[in-house]
Amino acid sequence: MAEKTLFEKIVAREIPADIVYQDDLVTAFRDINPQAPTHVLIVTNEPIPTAADVEPQHEPALGRLFTVARKVAEQEGLENGYRLIVNCKDDAHQEVYHLHVHLLGGRPLGPLLAR
Ligand code: AMP
Repeated sequence: MAEKTLFEKIVAREIPADIVYQDDLVTAFRDINPQAPTHVLIVTNEPIPTAADVEPQHEPALGRLFTVARKVAEQEGLENGYRLIVNCKDDAHQEVYHLHVHLLGGRPLGPLLAR
């Protein structure tokens, strides 16, 4: 069997994380190295390595990522807005090959990319 990803171990509660939401399809927990006052990662419970690996059967879990992002943003009081980011493979500096959405907010985040 393939080695579990770091995020699979968090989903299974085999390693500690500050989990803020979990259901049958996705898990949300605080990033260990936050880049904003709120920095939550929302991951699919079943590992999909990257956005380049998504298939039609993943659509329920991928849709859930967005509804949970909205819920967590509400819980966190991000009524001024927030940013959702998915990094895909090396050029995007993806570090953990288990598809996840970064939810960032709690301060003005500036433009998306340095010009
Ligand atoms: P990415 O570069 O999009 O793959 O993002 C990976 C994110 O995972 C980074 O923001 C890391 O800070 C975060 N991270 C790495 N290890 C952990 C951990 N054990 N618990 C929570 N977040 C983590």
